[in-house]
Order: sequence, then structure tokens, then C-alpha cells
Amino acid sequence: MSVYPNAAGTAAADAADPSLCAPLPVLGRDVTVPLVTGGEVTYAALDYAASAPALQRVWDDVAAYAPYYGSVHRGAGYLSQLSTDLFENSRAVVHGFLGCRDGDQVVFTRSTTDSLNLLAAALPAGCEVFVFETEHHASLLPWRNARVTYLDAPRTPGEAVRTLEHALAGRDPYGPALVCVTGASNVTGEVWPVRELAAAAHAHGARIVLDAAQLTPHHPLSVEELDVDWVAFSGHKLYAPFGSGVLAGRADWLREAEPYLAGGGASRTVARRADGGVEVEWHTTAARHEAGSPNVIGVYSIAAACKALTEAGFDRLVARERHLIAKVREGLAEVPEVRLLSLFGDDAPRVGVLSFVVDGWNSSHFAAALSAEYGIGVRDGLFCAHPLVRTLLGSDPQDVGECGAPEAGPGEKSLNAIRVSFGAGT
Ligand code: PLP
Repeated sequence: MSVYPNAAGTAAADAADPSLCAPLPVLGRDVTVPLVTGGEVTYAALDYAASAPALQRVWDDVAAYAPYYGSVHRGAGYLSQLSTDLFENSRAVVHGFLGCRDGDQVVFTRSTTDSLNLLAAALPAGCEVFVFETEHHASLLPWRNARVTYLDAPRTPGEAVRTLEHALAGRDPYGPALVCVTGASNVTGEVWPVRELAAAAHAHGARIVLDAAQLTPHHPLSVEELDVDWVAFSGHKLYAPFGSGVLAGRADWLREAEPYLAGGGASRTVARRADGGVEVEWHTTAARHEAGSPNVIGVYSIAAACKALTEAGFDRLVARERHLIAKVREGLAEVPEVRLLSLFGDDAPRVGVLSFVVDGWNSSHFAAALSAEYGIGVRDGLFCAHPLVRTLLGSDPQDVGECGAPEAGPGEKSLNAIRVSFGAGT
């Protein structure tokens, strides 16, 4: 298994299989929307990179669990016991889905952003962080208490590895260091050379966390095989409802860190001290960073989504997405006014996400027209990756204009882009 979908040459082979054009049965529902021109149309949701509609199978699983819903961990009643079993079993499902190593912890969080902030709060003292400027803000910004080296946008996967190696070669080899890298870009859909970056990080004594928000929904991955130290992702991009996420990986830094939140559930014992203070013994398991009543339904839904995707056949999902994205890219390439945005070029391996600009069009107006006139839901803006999109658009990377800022006039460079993204229901 590889995180590199073999992009070159396979789109044509996939096209020979007409079943790849049929919607997968896992979503199971159509929504109609009104058009400004009158009438209505079946909505085409092409914004999976933002949030993938939860699978019908996930809703069904949650509905089947609803009668047994109960508080987890400390309740003695039957429903609490059952809910606790289901909650902890969800942890085991996610551990298996991610191909984690024995001893890796699976911590339930609110989202990828929350997971990476948790890790940022757990960095050992003096930790250096290395991050490409091309990252989503969720992986670019959480490292506020560390010395951060921002790496320039590479133009090939090989250049990404060389840039990282060069930066790591200059670091203090005895201090702790962390590399944070995305698995697949939420802007271009391009897959990053994760295994090679992990090897480079480890060769220089650094650790690596994978922002897999866009990789997990589109491609199977194995923490062990990629040899990354941690992986972070969000339930709502993996066909589960909003509100839950995961940070999974090495236990040591997490076990040694202060709890992310202080409160019940994270503490094993709390006692008054003779001096009048309070003595706390914190858990050393994932519970250390899960204080408070957990999002049981969210956690259960993530596990349901992992199971649904595995059972639906991830390989088929990947092949179908590759087919769709290749078709859309081919179609867009025939329109002279369209410019596809890419860091690594046309042949880069990619998941079902692409961004483009249309010459002479305001991207926001273009996206609004797609919705109002055709019932196609896409996204426009800078996609929470401002430095990357500005680099791709050729605008000033130091521009501080806001996401969704006024568009360029005719003949000027576009300031925003349009993004189309696919998933299991498209
Ligand atoms: N990382 C990437 C690559 C993303 O695409 C996103 C969301 O778009 C995130 C992180 C943040 O995810 P969340 O908003 O669920 O925390």
C-alpha cells in the first residue's frame, strides 16, 4: 500500500470501468435545490474538502446506538457500561484504521485543528518546529511556544525533501524537534512525499506529525508504514458529523506533557495536601488529554465512518475519485481562460481536490453562479492556506488581505481561487 495514487496513466484505465461513474451506494440520499432561473436541480456537492456529508451508514449506526446512549467511563449502570465499551472499542477501530503501532495512543479531540494544538501544547521544552509555508493554517499556526522554521514552498516532491533535509542539518542535533507536514493539500489535492519526509526527519533526530485531514478521507494510510510519529484528522472530513477529531501516535511526549485540559476524566486521584493545596495524579493514557465529558456520539461516528469506508472498499473509492478528478482536470484544461493551480505540476499524485482561477472572472462571483444557476456547490477564497494560495496565484506572499477580499479587476491577477472537491457521494 502506498499513499501515492499512481496518477500517471491510470485515469484512462479507470475510465474503461463505467461503474466508476456511478455514485457509490454509501451516501444514499439526494438533495434538490432551487435555481435562480426557476425550477430545481439535484444538488452537486463538490466541497468535500471542507466537510464531507456524513454517510447514511454512519447516521444509521448512530440511530441504532441511540436507545443505548449513556454516559461513559464511570457509570455503573448497564447503559453506561455498554456506552463505555462502544467508546473504547471506537478507539480500537481508529487505531486499526490508521495502521497504528502497538503502544500508540489514540486521543479523541474536536478536530484536526484541536489535535495539532494539543500536540503543540505537549512539545518538550526547547522543541524546534519545522513547517512548510504551504500548510493549512491548522498546521502552520499552532506552534506558538516553539522556535519555528518556516520552509519555502517547494516546486517538486523531491525539492520538499531536500529543503527539509537542508533545514534539519542546521539544527541542534541533541534538542527535540518536530516536523509538521500535510498528507494531501486542501488546495491542490497534491499528495506530499510523506514517507521520504519522515525518513529525513528521523535521520536528523526529529519527529514528524502528519496533518491527514485531506488524506484519510481519500486514501488508506498506515502510520506504521509511513513511519510518522503522529497523525491528526477530523471526523467531519471523513464522512462523520462535526465535532470530533483524532490525534494518534507515540505515547511518550503525550504522557509526559501537562494535560491539554485540566479536569475530571484526566485526573486519576485528587487530594488535599497538608499545606492546603491540591495534589493531582494525572492519567498516563489518552484520558490525560480528554478531560470533561467526551463527545460520545462524535467518537462513535468516527469509528462508524472508518468501518463504512473499509467495508465500501477504499481502493474502489480511490480509483473512482482519481477517475473523476482526471475527467474534471481534462475538461477544465480545454477552457483557455481556466488556470489550474498546482505546486508540483500536472503529473503529481493527487486526491480528489483541485483549485483554479478563470481569467476575467471574479472567483467569488463564479462560485456563486455555479450554485445559483447550476446547483453546484464549490468553494472560493484562500482556503485557510493564505501563503500557499498567494504563491500559486503569483500575488504578493506578504499580502495581508483577508480571505474573501475584493477580487482583482479585469486584466489583474486573481486574488481568490475556486476549489472543487470530490468524495464518496459524488
Ligand atoms: N488540515 C487540512 C489539510 C485541512 O484541509 C483542514 C480543513 O480544511 C484542516 C487541517 C483543519 O480541519 P478542522 O477545521 O476540521 O480542524
